[in-house]
Amino acid sequence: MKPTNRLHLLCLSLLASLSFAHEGVELGPNGGRILEFSKNETLHGELTVKDDRFHIALLDKDMKPLALAEQKLTATTGDREAPRKLEVGRDARGFVLPSVKPGEWLILQFRNSPDEKAVTARFEYNTATCEECQSPEWICKCRPEAAKK
Ligand SMILES: [Zn+2]
Repeated sequence: MKPTNRLHLLCLSLLASLSFAHEGVELGPNGGRILEFSKNETLHGELTVKDDRFHIALLDKDMKPLALAEQKLTATTGDREAPRKLEVGRDARGFVLPSVKPGEWLILQFRNSPDEKAVTARFEYNTATCEECQSPEWICKCRPEAAKK
């Protein structure tokens, strides 16, 4: 095989593994993980971690901060057989809850108002370091670059 062909194959397999590993990672204005809190991209949560706690700020369709009012959030983790509910508090900037363990999933149910249906958002708290961008996988910065292609 010619060296150029081999390089080409290497690039293809690298791209394939990247798009698989970094599926759906979107980052917010504060470098946190964006979670969809609406069915039409009008409301997002930005999840950041500090002192073993998850902070979730609300953002509008332009990624501008939204004030917390009557929105409600419930959080669970663990597996299907043994789901574990997390206590969700509030502070001036949004919701606050205990962080899950690395490798665990966080399942969030967000309600914009009491009479609206809940929107479910979930993500894996994958803290392994991404080789490409050296960020933890759950806030991997590779995806936006790949999406531009
Ligand atoms: Zn990355």
